[in-house]
Amino acid sequence: MKFGGTSVGDVAAFERVFKVISSQSERRPIVVVSAMTRVTDALLAAFEIAKKGDASEAAVTLEPHFLRHVEVAEQFIPFGQRKAFNEELSYTREELSDLLTRASRRSLPLSMLKDAIVSYGEQLSSRLLAEVLKANGINARQLDSRRLIVTDDEFGAAQPIWDETAELLRLELSPAIEAGEVPVMGGFIAGNRAGETTTLGRGGSDFTAAIVAAALSARELQIWTDVTGVMTCDPRICGDANTIPVLSYEEAAELAYFGAKVLHPKTIKPAVDNAIPVRVCNTFQPSEVGTMILAESGEAPNKIKSIASKKNITIVRITSARMLGAYGFMSAVFQVFDRHRTVIDVISTSEVSVALTLDSAESLEKVVEDLKRLGDVEVEGGYAVICVVGEGLRASTGLASKIFSTIEDVNVALVSHGASAVNLTFVVNDKDAPQVIQKLHEEFF
Ligand code: ADP
Ligand code: ASP
Ligand code: MG
Repeated sequence: MKFGGTSVGDVAAFERVFKVISSQSERRPIVVVSAMTRVTDALLAAFEIAKKGDASEAAVTLEPHFLRHVEVAEQFIPFGQRKAFNEELSYTREELSDLLTRASRRSLPLSMLKDAIVSYGEQLSSRLLAEVLKANGINARQLDSRRLIVTDDEFGAAQPIWDETAELLRLELSPAIEAGEVPVMGGFIAGNRAGETTTLGRGGSDFTAAIVAAALSARELQIWTDVTGVMTCDPRICGDANTIPVLSYEEAAELAYFGAKVLHPKTIKPAVDNAIPVRVCNTFQPSEVGTMILAESGEAPNKIKSIASKKNITIVRITSARMLGAYGFMSAVFQVFDRHRTVIDVISTSEVSVALTLDSAESLEKVVEDLKRLGDVEVEGGYAVICVVGEGLRASTGLASKIFSTIEDVNVALVSHGASAVNLTFVVNDKDAPQVIQKLHEEFF
């Protein structure tokens, strides 16, 4: 059972989470929890302040967030049992103040310090949740994810080393479960082989939960969040979005990748590989079934299951006469992206040009510099990727025409269709994205 940040945001949220866990305690759950809402952002902001030189100012900005934890502790843990949490909190204050000072003095690599600092969100929330459960009759035990999920050294986006991680998880978790305990782990945070703290990328708690589920051959992976499952589109964009009862792994992966933040893209993989059903549930409406993600889902009557979108996309176009009838060009283009570890989302080619989209502008300058050796390069920011997903989409006649005629007054900058059987992806201006999604949603749902 994984609980996202919004599910552990305040006193009322903890109350809901407690009820959900206790109603399933017979099923021998393992709990994975995110940092309380806004805490990860606050820690990252504190790191930035410290980096500019003011470590004590950085530490001060975290106090209101610590107080939110204290409020929950005071509400649910009787005075005499608060020692474990209070100790955790005072170590957190001390250690963070030391790490922020190091960030201001740059006395350790910044990428390493950043992960160490941001990890306190989940360290605190997992300790707090374990203590709240314990104080209320659930035999919970916090386990340190930094010692259980072993990753490579890629700070900020670390990849788990599967065999070692699975073995450690089984070794630590199985006896606890056998003994009737409910293990509580922080999501998102991990450690490399040297024991340094790493993180799995933003939204990574879903990934942690999937890794744990796979290692322990769980019967089900439950992702508890603030909406009822995966919906026909982001409910923040269309108020009348509906819950999708069943999605296939492939559909869910495309949606997650192209912006349906409700699931972290990587979550799907360990679950698919181990045939573990994933259920996305709502902490606010725990009795609703939510969305089941299964190996196969079947086609929806209108073929389309959901519409996802991702903003702040950059289009890069490379044009080269050398490409005419030549081989090796694509390979040269991809090598540039490989060298700068930059992910390409959507790609489309013609005889003499390639257009592709990137969602991170971090290494853009270096990428462009290298691409210029291959041809003329154009870069344009301010786009959004829209991804329409549904089993059987590629094979259905007339659907593309229906999609594009629905949005005929909008300029489409790039289209990709046919690579996967389940999606049609295109790129429009950022400012047009909400109305494109609303129009498509109205037409198809
Ligand atoms: P958590 O803190 O539980 O991990 P997230 O904020 O990461 O929650 O994900 C839940 C949010 O994802 C929802 O509040 C919703 O706004 C957004 N979202 C985007 N697309 C979708 C979609 N297709 N279905 C459901 N939620 C979506
Ligand atoms: N707390 C982390 C984040 O905000 C991980 C997560 O919530 O999944 O990105
Ligand atoms: Mg999330």
